[in-house]
Amino acid sequence: MRMRKLPWAEEFLAEAEVVVKKPQDNAGKWKQLLACETLHVEVGTGKGDYWIQMAQQYADEGWIGIEKNSSVAALAVRKYTKLENPGKNMLYIQNDAESIQSWFAEGEVDVLHLNFSDPWPKKRAHKKRLSNRKFIEQYAHILNENGEIQMKTDNSSLFEYSLLEFQNAGWFLWDVSVDFRRCEHAEDVITEYEHRFMEKGQPIYRAVWKKKM
Ligand code: SAM
Repeated sequence: MRMRKLPWAEEFLAEAEVVVKKPQDNAGKWKQLLACETLHVEVGTGKGDYWIQMAQQYADEGWIGIEKNSSVAALAVRKYTKLENPGKNMLYIQNDAESIQSWFAEGEVDVLHLNFSDPWPKKRAHKKRLSNRKFIEQYAHILNENGEIQMKTDNSSLFEYSLLEFQNAGWFLWDVSVDFRRCEHAEDVITEYEHRFMEKGQPIYRAVWKKKM
């Protein structure tokens, strides 16, 4: 997500309680901290609508948002702080998910969400894709045995690439749709990017992978 740098972002994030400054210190303790049995992690929250609304919809489950861009993260966290009843089931990490494995204990996460991840179309940049094998190896470590990854995208090339990356890493394709919003899915919040693509009439691709059948 490209946006101008917000001069107040860094200081705001440093002071916001919901932002975890040293996530590695919480490895193995997230469920206790959020008083939950099911832990969700969204990588690349953008401005935070999905993280916030899903946490409200599933208030007895834990929701951690991750975003590397400090200005975008600050907008997400500001939205959270303006809520009338900000959930105690939410925490935020403003950092690059390239270190995600060090922030969670083995098998600690139940569901990982990738919504409209940057497509990085040039081949030499494919390693930055959040469904690149280097990320998948880390996800495999932090997800529990029955854990799953839910991905949505508008980008057919990224979708095809992701299907192959997960297949080659030995994951099971649990669910797949090339037009997810053809039917109503009240269980899943529409993200900022998703709204834009739906308005243009573009189909939304979605896949769910599990580590085992
Ligand atoms: N998920 C939101 C949505 O659907 O509206 C935002 C989509 S936006 C295209 C992708 C977001 O992922 C950007 O804000 C970007 O900064 C973030 N992102 C990309 N790579 C990341 C990484 N390695 N770690 C954390 N965030 C990342």
